[in-house]
Amino acid sequence: MPRWTCGIGDCDAAFEDVESAIVHQTTEHQRHECKVCGTIVPDGYFAIRHAFDEHTRAEYVRAYDADAAAVREREQVKEEVEAAADLQAVVDRLNDDAL
Ligand SMILES: [Zn+2]
Ligand SMILES: [Zn+2]
Repeated sequence: MPRWTCGIGDCDAAFEDVESAIVHQTTEHQRHECKVCGTIVPDGYFAIRHAFDEHTRAEYVRAYDADAAAVREREQVKEEVEAAADLQAVVDRLNDDAL
């Protein structure tokens, strides 16, 4: 069973490795406009990372009308991805795709 699913909207694309899941999120989905600052970021992991690295939880909750459970769920996804992913490999693959 693939362990990583995309999870954006109702997308159920599944992948053996987390790097492929992030590449999929970044290349196959529309970009996401941050509701806090208006920056355009890839949806999925990169959108979560942007929200929690660049903004406080309070800003996130206000802008997205989120509750504590939604924040915890995203923080958990971020931790799991960062524990498993070689983000440099993801960036390299995205750069290769752009050539
Ligand atoms: Zn997807
Ligand atoms: Zn932002």
